[in-house]
Amino acid sequence: MTTAGDGKPISTIVIIIAMQTEALPLVDKFRLTEDPDSVFPNGVPWVRFHGMYKDLQVNIIWPGKDLHLGVDSVGTISASLVTYAAIQALKPDLIINAGTAGGFKAKGARVGDVYLASDVAFHDRRIPIPVFDQYGIGARQTFSPPNLLKELILKVGKLSTGDSLDMSPHDETSILANDATIKDMEGAAVAYVADLLSVPVIFIKAVTDIVDGEKPTSEEFLQNLVAVTAALGQAVSQVVDFITGKCLGQL
Ligand code: SAH
Repeated sequence: MTTAGDGKPISTIVIIIAMQTEALPLVDKFRLTEDPDSVFPNGVPWVRFHGMYKDLQVNIIWPGKDLHLGVDSVGTISASLVTYAAIQALKPDLIINAGTAGGFKAKGARVGDVYLASDVAFHDRRIPIPVFDQYGIGARQTFSPPNLLKELILKVGKLSTGDSLDMSPHDETSILANDATIKDMEGAAVAYVADLLSVPVIFIKAVTDIVDGEKPTSEEFLQNLVAVTAALGQAVSQVVDFITGKCLGQL
């Protein structure tokens, strides 16, 4: 499906972002506009912002607001659906999944740090039957571009994904087993779909809250969201600048 693998420069990228607050700074930065003729089925809340940035066709895909409750459609189900639909409709050479995450201070994470995830796995899919257990965890290494990592100041760590913002004792055990430094609600789901369809994904995650700290997660998350989103936006635009004009093998 990708052409950029054949030594041609990357031409189309899809940036998957779960929350409006995370997406809008990048929509502004790349001067993207909302697609009036949606490439998605009628009636879904999924939003595509697009435009040319230098030589790149940049698409930001946001799953939008829940049709019934009006909040951002966070979590693995919406993330999987929009990843699938965006790949089918737009045939990107590369996906970037950008967002916020919880961080573990025991692993060196601090609020405001921006990570590139080297590995992803799930922490809330426990199936204690041989081999199904590994299927549930769904651990996989990500596309970790060596030259990009040399050039940009990003931390590298493993990401663990689950559908809850809080952390149950069961989740905690699994997150430890996953050796995770950061915790989100979408990454491993995006990785699963992109792997099925053979599209490489770069995961850029900025830490809004410290999971193994004293403050309640939801409070700390909301307190830091806007500032951390600015750091996220800066990191993603650096990544996009780095990608421009290169083929996948040069990243
Ligand atoms: N209270 C928030 C809810 C957002 S859910 C609100 O009012 O909008 C949290 C989002 O941020 C998810 O997309 C998830 O990927 C990310 N996230 C940030 N910190 C997280 C954490 N500690 N655990 C899991 N996901 C986290």
